[in-house]
Amino acid sequence: MSGISIFMYHQVGRFAPMRDHRANYCDVDRFRAQLRYLKLIGASVLSMSDALAALQGRRPLPPRAVVLSFDDGCENFHEYALPVLEEFGYPAIAYVIAGMTGGKAEWLAAAGHPTPPLMDWSRLREIAARGVEIGSHAYRHVRLAGLDAATLAHEVTDSKRRIEDELGQAVTHFCYPYGSHDLATMEAAAAAGYQSAVTCQRGAATSAFDPLALPRKGISYGDNALGFAWKLHTKDRPKGRALHRGA
Ligand SMILES: [Zn+2]
Repeated sequence: MSGISIFMYHQVGRFAPMRDHRANYCDVDRFRAQLRYLKLIGASVLSMSDALAALQGRRPLPPRAVVLSFDDGCENFHEYALPVLEEFGYPAIAYVIAGMTGGKAEWLAAAGHPTPPLMDWSRLREIAARGVEIGSHAYRHVRLAGLDAATLAHEVTDSKRRIEDELGQAVTHFCYPYGSHDLATMEAAAAAGYQSAVTCQRGAATSAFDPLALPRKGISYGDNALGFAWKLHTKDRPKGRALHRGA
C-alpha cells in the first residue's frame, strides 16, 4: 500500500444480519477485530490533521498510515465506536451535520433504513474533549454538487461557523454528503477555510490529490478482519478521475 488509507465508517454497533444497505453499518465486534489488525501490523493511525500535514509534506508520512473517519455523527459512535477506539488509543474524526445535531438521520428513511439518533451538542463537546476531531458534514444532509452559490455557501460556511460556535474550536475538515462534489463545491470549501475535504471516491490518499477531494475506503457490514486487510493493502488506485482545482 502507498499513501494514506482513510477508512470511511457510518454506523458502528450491533445490527440484525442484513443483505441490503450494508455499506452503512459495521458490527462492533468486527470493528474491534479491524483495529486489532491495525495494531498487529503496526499501522500508524493518524488524526485527519496529522494525515493532512503528512500529505502536504509538513511531517513525515509514516508507513502503513491510516485515518479512521465516521460520517453523520450518529449516537452509536459514542456508544460503540469510541470505547473501542479508546481501548486501542487510536484517534478518529467524526463528521457532523450542523443543522441536524440532536435529531435523527432522517435522510435514511427514503432508502428504507431505520433513522438512528444523531449526537447533540453536549455529546459532541464530550467526544471533542475525549480527543475526537470534529469535522463538518454540511448543514443538512444534501447533495452539494449543482447547488446555487448561496445555498452552497450556507451548507459549507455556515456549518463550519455553527460547529465552531458550539464547540469553541476551529473546524478545518469537511466531508461531502453522499460524496457529492464538483469544482464549485471544492472552491466553496476552500473559500470557507477548510484545509481538507473527503469524498466517497475509492482509493488511498496521496499528495497527488487535491486536499479538498481526498479519496477514502468504505468499510461495510461484510468486512471481517480479512476483508479489512484486503481493503487496507489494495484498492489504492483511485477508481475514476479525481477532481483537482486548477488541473
Ligand atoms: Zn453522510
